[in-house]
Amino acid sequence: MTDTPGALLGPAEIRDLAGRLGIRPTKTLGQNFVIDGGTVRKIVRSAGVVAGERVVEIGPGLGSLTLGLLEAGASLVAVEIDPVLAGALPATVAAHLPEVAGTDRFTVVTADALEVTELPGAAPTALVANLPYNVSVPVLLTFLERFPSLERVLVMVQAEVADRLAAPPGSRTYGVPSAKVAWYASARRTSTVARSVFWPVPNVDSALVRLERREPPRTTASRAEVFAVVDAAFAQRRKMLRSALGTLAGSVEIAEAALRAAGVDPQTRGERLDIEAFTRVAEALAAGAPTSRRPGTVGT
Ligand code: SAM
Repeated sequence: MTDTPGALLGPAEIRDLAGRLGIRPTKTLGQNFVIDGGTVRKIVRSAGVVAGERVVEIGPGLGSLTLGLLEAGASLVAVEIDPVLAGALPATVAAHLPEVAGTDRFTVVTADALEVTELPGAAPTALVANLPYNVSVPVLLTFLERFPSLERVLVMVQAEVADRLAAPPGSRTYGVPSAKVAWYASARRTSTVARSVFWPVPNVDSALVRLERREPPRTTASRAEVFAVVDAAFAQRRKMLRSALGTLAGSVEIAEAALRAAGVDPQTRGERLDIEAFTRVAEALAAGAPTSRRPGTVGT
């Protein structure tokens, strides 16, 4: 653990602040606060935040990462579900970074991030957060969908979730989160973070994941249609796709025809398909599974 100089919160101050606010961190809200300034600065650096950039933070908690982002010059909107934590943030920012107080560089929104459909101020280009673990994937997918202005994401999540988000097709951890995130962005797991940087210490490891927005696959199918295929394929992970997609398609025969039309071997499993292949399958299903076969067959 490194020293926490300057603007950032250190271990003693975090505990003191929590005590004064009467906060008893809850597992339900994934309340593990970062007490190490070195980790905060590493997250801010990895996120590539530049002065003046509009950033959204989800779950600012007591303000550990919030102060790091503001110190780097970000213009920040932070979404926190816990009203006591949200209410205390402006005073914490004013105490540590007086130059930010009274400016429009910092706004707190007290809300469940999953329910947020608009944000005040300029549209954010980056999302940087130490995400609440129990909702990290839905929060990530929701924000990528609702805020197309987001070009980059740097999040700290449970190490296992980081593996899943960044997993390529065919790997053991490839699944629904990997395929859906790939619709929006390329994902890379960067570094592992020690449990000791949190208070209270969680019983899982954490890791950083960096996402770069890219164009979704070009298709006449809707995102919802593609995601329905992904969900069906992984709901029965061990089944061949022709059976796994049977209910969604209406019958195993229709599923098989759509898979062939999409250039996918009907006997392969969902874990072998990249998001482009899932998209072709969704398109073929939506179009009533034409029989024209596309070049190249996936999964053979
Ligand atoms: N960013 C702080 C830090 O690094 O110390 C706190 C991170 S803590 C892992 C997660 C934070 O997310 C908590 O402050 C918790 O109250 C908040 N939170 C949990 N669920 C949330 C939700 N659905 N929407 C917004 N914030 C949420």
